[in-house]
Amino acid sequence: MQISGHTRLGCLLGSPVAHSISPAMYNESFRLLNLDYVYLCFDTKGKDLKTFVQVLRDMNVFGFNLTMPDKERIMEYLDEIQEAARMIGAANTVKNEGGRLIGCNTDGVGYVRSMQKTGYDFTCGPMSLLGAGGAASSIAVWAALGGVPVLHILNRKNGRSFPNALRLADQINAGTGCRADVIDLNDTKAVHGAISECTLLTNATSVGMAPNTESLPLSDLSCLHPGMTVSDIIYNPRRTRLLCEAEKIGCSTSNGMYMLLYQGEAAFRIWTGMDMPTETIRAKFFD
Ligand code: NAP
Repeated sequence: MQISGHTRLGCLLGSPVAHSISPAMYNESFRLLNLDYVYLCFDTKGKDLKTFVQVLRDMNVFGFNLTMPDKERIMEYLDEIQEAARMIGAANTVKNEGGRLIGCNTDGVGYVRSMQKTGYDFTCGPMSLLGAGGAASSIAVWAALGGVPVLHILNRKNGRSFPNALRLADQINAGTGCRADVIDLNDTKAVHGAISECTLLTNATSVGMAPNTESLPLSDLSCLHPGMTVSDIIYNPRRTRLLCEAEKIGCSTSNGMYMLLYQGEAAFRIWTGMDMPTETIRAKFFD
């Protein structure tokens, strides 16, 4: 990659960002496609996001990504918001189109694509989703748009995201053909009833993530059944305890690595209008 006077900048904003795999993924893609772009990470901790965004506008960046805690905060500084991002209430990808900043959300796109790549058909049965935070919201909306007939959102009633779970279910019921409801994660009987009828269970909570790798997002796994698919969007560790236990029961499993890859693929297309060399990137950085 040769930096020139014409090189356009893109970046990741949030905190922490130094560990991110995104610079490797995008810069290698730019190099392979001979695009005069470069992608860097900027830690926004303690910084004023509004000022940061104004600077990015002034520098005429091609676009940027957002991670925690900036995905929701960015919404008020955008000129236009894609419908799905509006339903989700957060944007992880922004495109600069002639000076107008357009907010999109590709997290759930990445999740749906990663599951389709395993052969999972979202229209084949009900789905239970653990969590109602940022990532879960995006997955819920894109799974509903992707044809899930019934979606159970499971979150602690006393948790921070419970009001968001209720808002999400309302949005999905009003804006898609999916029937969504919200169940208190502490209501064991209702949780078991929901998961028992599902073909897909997705963990989109942070429970099981390093360093707390012994934790399980469900207190009782007896509702899991052979033949169902259990996926965990956590990618550190790659095999969470939930996935290990589900495998013992005979479920198909998948982790969060490819969600990361395919949300990047979707962002790449939004910025460049081109297909990312996904399989090469996958083999080099994700497998
Ligand atoms: P977030 O907005 O903070 O949401 C966290 C969710 O986890 C909330 O629903 C929260 O519920 C729930 N939760 C936390 N502790 C819990 C507990 N002890 N019991 C039950 N529920 C609990 O975080 P996020 O951005 O959505 O990220 C969630 C996870 O997804 C993280 O592990 C992150 O690394 C991963 N992720 C992966 C990808 C990928 O590409 N693979 C992308 C984004 C995120 P309460 O409201 O009840 O606290």
